[in-house]
Amino acid sequence: MSKETEHFARGLVATIRARYRTDDFIPLHAPRFVGRDREYVLEALDSGFVSSVGRHVDAFEAALSAFTGARFAVATVNGTAALHTALLLGGVRSDEEVITQSITFVATCNAIRYCGAHPVFVDIDRATLGLSPESLDAFLSEHAEMRDDGLCWNRDTGRVIRACVPMHTCGHPARIDRIAAVCAAWNLVLIEDAAESLGSLHQGRHTGLFGRIAALSFNGNKIITTGGGGMILTDDEALARHAKHLTTTAKQPHPYLFIHDEVGFNYRLPALNAALGCAQMEVLRDVIERKRALAEYYAVWFAETYREFVREPAEASSNYWLNAFLTDDRDERDFILEYTNTRGVMTRPVWTPMHSLALFRNFQRAELPNSEWIEARLVKLPSSVPPD
Ligand SMILES: *Cc1c(COP(=O)(O)O)cnc(C)c1O
Repeated sequence: MSKETEHFARGLVATIRARYRTDDFIPLHAPRFVGRDREYVLEALDSGFVSSVGRHVDAFEAALSAFTGARFAVATVNGTAALHTALLLGGVRSDEEVITQSITFVATCNAIRYCGAHPVFVDIDRATLGLSPESLDAFLSEHAEMRDDGLCWNRDTGRVIRACVPMHTCGHPARIDRIAAVCAAWNLVLIEDAAESLGSLHQGRHTGLFGRIAALSFNGNKIITTGGGGMILTDDEALARHAKHLTTTAKQPHPYLFIHDEVGFNYRLPALNAALGCAQMEVLRDVIERKRALAEYYAVWFAETYREFVREPAEASSNYWLNAFLTDDRDERDFILEYTNTRGVMTRPVWTPMHSLALFRNFQRAELPNSEWIEARLVKLPSSVPPD
């Protein structure tokens, strides 16, 4: 590597260590328990209601609904379960197609496959890292047609394209209003994978409110955590009711009989986890402020280098879940990943693009120049809330 790159790498490690004030290992994103976490979890334990019953699930759902502005929030056992349920409620069926971005976590595509549907990959924006509305529109114009049944059909495969699942990468909002407009024109159900973007706004509105349904995640590495957990957001009361039903084994209410009226899932969030979530929600605003301040710290340092730090997109306020920057090329990316990880500073590339995984290689895709460009250059940086 060039002397300049080595100099940059040394400076990067020093800058990160200076902010976290430690010589120990620095993870990418550590969970943080500084509020009433222990108190609420013990309360759930003492109540005896640790799994399916208890006030904490209702309270956690109410907190998410109040925070995001979604009319309804339905808790699930993890974000993948929330996505799977959202796709089913969006009407995605076996042998239909769902358009998504290739740069995403594998859960997005797994959930599509759980429905027996086929993912179709379109490109991302370089600026937002999220699904490109232009790539979506171009793909549909070239390969799809609206038929008399009002559905969008893929002319190449002869299948219905039912839905579109954009993802707000690293917490940065995609241009979701433009994506929503394209989906409306082609009658696609818009389902947002907002697993990373709790607290991120586009045009002043919370991500997850632009489509029919959205999924959030509270995995241990997300901006707040319930150990494992997820949430479905929707403004549609019937959908919310169905989401609750489907995720709780589709059992009809009855004083003692077990009547299940469809094949449901055991996707409910245990009350123990919800109790933790209630405490995490109390500090979420503070967490976002601290994470935005950390992003500013990085941005100031990067401004003195020749590398581009990933800033929040126009018209957005990002939670900066994961900070990231762009190297000159893949060789430099690999050098930085090696340099930092061998020195106890955890960094990561973006995910291997879905279309490059053997398991999704044979699905249809648009040209993906931005996905490939970003994949070769992006490096994710330590982003835990730092000490005061
Ligand atoms: C974390 C994540 C998920 C899945 O969440 P789990 O709670 O881990 O199942 C889905 N999509 C994206 C983009 C994620 O980052």
